Amino acid sequence: MHHDPDCIFCKIIEGKIPSQKVHEDELVYAFKDIHPWAPVHFLIVPKEHFASMEQAGPQHEKLLAHMLLLAPRLAKEQGCNPYPAGGYRLQINTGAEGGQEVYHLHLHVVGGSRPWFKA
Ligand code: AMP
Ligand code: ZN
Repeated sequence: MHHDPDCIFCKIIEGKIPSQKVHEDELVYAFKDIHPWAPVHFLIVPKEHFASMEQAGPQHEKLLAHMLLLAPRLAKEQGCNPYPAGGYRLQINTGAEGGQEVYHLHLHVVGGSRPWFKA
């Protein structure tokens, strides 16, 4: 498993920086975002370090499918309201103009009753 010693999310995965854990399995670690945009906001992060969707390849097919298919279950466990009146937003910021700040790929899962703190 590739880790970057200077990466904040690698440090969170390794337990060197504290986090509020939502879920963990062999492929991913999920934890609450420290600056939530909404009542529910957590990140699903691959345990393997790679920077963004620009570095994703066929070797990540299983991982990326796992992240997307895990999100609905964790979203409801974390308090997102039932679909279709409720729901959630799934977002992967990619590159500076995509709004990416942390260069370890992550899926934002955002939801809960509106209004949100940040739309
Ligand atoms: P992005 O802009 O898509 O790269 O998102 C990075 C996210 O990581 C932001 O929403 C931050 O609030 C969040 N974040 C940064 N540091 C931490 C941390 N130590 N624990 C939890 N979330 C963090
Ligand atoms: Zn990393």
